[in-house]
Amino acid sequence: MEKAFLVKYGEIGLKGKNRYYFEETLVKRIEEALKKIDGEFTVTRPQGRIFVEGSGFDEDEVIDALSKVFGIIWICPCIMTDDTGFDDLSKQIIDYLKEELGDKPFTFKVEARRARKNYPMNSMEINRELGARILDAFPNSQVDVHHPEHLVEVEIRERINFHIFYHKGVGGMPVGTAGKAMLLLSGGIDSPVAGYMIARRGVTVDATYFHAPPYTSERAKQKVVDLAKILTKYTGPIKLHVVNFTDIQMAIYEKCPHDELTIIMRRYMMTIAEHFADEDNDQALITGESLGQVASQTMQSLYVTDHAATLPVFRPLIGFDKQDIIEISQKIGTYETSILPYEDCCTIFVAKHPVTKPRLDVIERSETKLGDVIEDLLQKAYDTTETILVK
Ligand code: ATP
Ligand code: MG
Repeated sequence: MEKAFLVKYGEIGLKGKNRYYFEETLVKRIEEALKKIDGEFTVTRPQGRIFVEGSGFDEDEVIDALSKVFGIIWICPCIMTDDTGFDDLSKQIIDYLKEELGDKPFTFKVEARRARKNYPMNSMEINRELGARILDAFPNSQVDVHHPEHLVEVEIRERINFHIFYHKGVGGMPVGTAGKAMLLLSGGIDSPVAGYMIARRGVTVDATYFHAPPYTSERAKQKVVDLAKILTKYTGPIKLHVVNFTDIQMAIYEKCPHDELTIIMRRYMMTIAEHFADEDNDQALITGESLGQVASQTMQSLYVTDHAATLPVFRPLIGFDKQDIIEISQKIGTYETSILPYEDCCTIFVAKHPVTKPRLDVIERSETKLGDVIEDLLQKAYDTTETILVK
């Protein structure tokens, strides 16, 4: 008998081909997550279940790695054992309970599943008989069929597995099952959370960062690379485009009304992000905007910003309060990096009183002041972009 892990995933609404694809992709994502930790692993997928078996691993490390894989609902450390008869199985389970629970009183329920039909007892009989033997071995224990402290699950397959512990997975869909999108990733709190949330729906994420040297430092850029790196624990490798945005910002600053700087700048961010989205075959943009958070995120501003993009813009945080966003960033581990106090390109050329209700026609007219220069500047920005594969 040896320790292994039973991985449970959601399959609601998944049928036929989609389900097969979902499961195959989930296995791939699990294998990738396990490559990052010590141990040798094999991942198998009998009907409706995924098992992780292996050697030389630390149990907590495996649970931690699996708890970042989207698509997993529960991670159950289990015992895998050969079928050496029901008496021996009961003894193994009782020994395991003794080892894990000591002699504290507990309530429990046995739930057996017989996937191999030639086993001499059916699941009802196993539930009843095993329950009786556990009660005998633990006189302080009690059966509670509705709210047991410990659900003792036993599965009879070629081999047999049983478990009593459940660690909650992150849910969502395995990355790679729902297309690709381009995240506008700044060094702030919001955009990494936005990327996480869309990736959690199965989307592969690329990223674009707007860098404004010498106004923004190497450290500010490194912070974004670090944030991308934290995200990769969930998303897998991220292709990060670092765009030199200084010349475009300077041109806007020189030629356009200062109260419109931010909104115009944000429109060019959309244009540039979309250029790389096309290159990378991404079908949407993702931003960390939330309604009303700042002047550039009012309804009117978002409307004007959206008109610079032809791809759909996903804003998963649109209805979130800042505090909600902070809590997610703490949970996913980006918060500590996000709050490092480095300058952002948006904060450098910022007007004292930015427009909060921009009008599309007015903004478009202001942009004509950039004349032909802007085309050259955009081209130069594309040409000088540094692309980093963050793993
Ligand atoms: P964040 O915490 O994500 O920086 P924020 O509240 O500071 O958000 P803004 O600066 O208005 O908001 O930016 C809104 C969104 O625009 C960000 O969530 C991000 O998606 C994108 N963005 C802003 N600055 C940059 C940048 N320098 N590079 C890439 N994307 C950016
Ligand atoms: Mg920001």
